[in-house]
Amino acid sequence: MHYISTRDNTLKRTAAQAIAQGLADDGGLFLPSQLPNFTPEHWQTFAQMTYAQRAANIMALFLPEFSCEELEILCAKAYSNFNDPAVAKVVTVGDDCLLELWHGPTHAFKDMALQALPHLLTASLRKTGETRTACILVATSGDTGIAAMNGFRDVDGTKAMVFYPQDGVSAVQQLQMTTQEGENLGVCAVKGNFDDAQSGIKTIFADKELQAQLSAQNCFFSSANSINWGRVLPQIVYYISAYVDMVEQDKLKIGETFNICVPTGNFGNILAAYYAKQLGAPIGKLLCASNQNDVLTDFINSGTYDKRRDFYTTVSPSMDILISSNLERALYALSNNDSKAVKNWMAQLKTNGHYTVNDDVKAKLQEQFYAAACDEATTKATIADIWARYQYLLDPHTAVGYNVAQGYKAEAGDNAPMLIVSTASPFKFAGAVLSALGEGTDGNHEQALAALTGWQVPESIAKLADKKIRFTECVAVNEMRGVVERFAAM
Ligand SMILES: *Cc1c(COP(=O)(O)O)cnc(C)c1O
Repeated sequence: MHYISTRDNTLKRTAAQAIAQGLADDGGLFLPSQLPNFTPEHWQTFAQMTYAQRAANIMALFLPEFSCEELEILCAKAYSNFNDPAVAKVVTVGDDCLLELWHGPTHAFKDMALQALPHLLTASLRKTGETRTACILVATSGDTGIAAMNGFRDVDGTKAMVFYPQDGVSAVQQLQMTTQEGENLGVCAVKGNFDDAQSGIKTIFADKELQAQLSAQNCFFSSANSINWGRVLPQIVYYISAYVDMVEQDKLKIGETFNICVPTGNFGNILAAYYAKQLGAPIGKLLCASNQNDVLTDFINSGTYDKRRDFYTTVSPSMDILISSNLERALYALSNNDSKAVKNWMAQLKTNGHYTVNDDVKAKLQEQFYAAACDEATTKATIADIWARYQYLLDPHTAVGYNVAQGYKAEAGDNAPMLIVSTASPFKFAGAVLSALGEGTDGNHEQALAALTGWQVPESIAKLADKKIRFTECVAVNEMRGVVERFAAM
């Protein structure tokens, strides 16, 4: 097995090279040349394993240069900071299972990959003989930034610089980032939205002069965004782990088909579910849930991706995205590995702001995926409704997924068991959750939400108010280059 680019499948890289590099030379995304051979029966042995052991066994299939023992040590480290022994926890709410992916140190699902990536990356650098420092640039709509900072904090051979949209993150997300400790970290607000910050970083990645300058300082650019294969791979694990746990909890029979609903922004999380299905997990429909920024819903339903539309700032900010990077990997698979077609669509998106896939790809897309959007009022009503009915608190992202899952069941008459992915702790978005529950939002949101519901504020969030703010810079998009230049020289 080697790694190819979605835009050129004659490219040949090792897994370690793909992870160390992040983005392929031609701007495409790295993918394994073929899926590993695997017998799903093997998963029955997973029932007795810890989450970290499950992760090592699955990741080893995709990483030929890593031994399973090496990965077990790496994964044990990565998943030691979670506040629940299950790490990725399956709970039952009403008729559905929810997969809680927010028991990590920053309380959103990004920890599932970003606690592992720094270790994967440093091991990959050693394997490729790279001795320069990896200068990680991150654009974030909130959760990726803090999870990357937490994961890369004081990791040798790395430094990480995060850019977030000035008005596009929650109060907790902003405090988590601006108070994060670690000598090798930086964070800066950008005057613009997530797509502005992301395109600012893409411009910097393509800046040959800056690259040369960095190289002279013994540094090189790398990425911790979900374009990096090292982000997608750890996410495949929890879908297989959830399948094993659902069987253990008698929610499913072995081999019985279940559907998965994922609140989606950059298409990374749902893409991992698609790979879990390709590996043999008995997954039926993959439900792609959008918020008011419904570019993916329109794409899946029409075959036309069109980013020329208004951008909305919503109560589920981590899904406020118009350019969904990881869709490119799904297009590659659904077009029978047609890297020329993918390259062409991505070029059209860049120049014209839209593209349309052919009928064959559209049919395959709709066979695998169902898509619907959930507006702001419905998101809030869902939070209130589920609290009233089941005393279960949904964060706004998960509420979008929850609502879309119910809509699908009613519309399709499909009663297969449903796994809804719960992507963040409600305390990360306590202001929005409180207001959804009809409460005022004066004073400390997290304490108020805890007092109202009896749920506990996660310890690291409760402590945020007492922490010192270390980073206050806010720049225009065209000033990001200067920030990176100074950060790299530090
Ligand atoms: C990042 C994020 C999402 C969207 O995930 P993608 O992989 O970008 O589709 C959804 N919910 C939360 C809480 C997130 O942090």
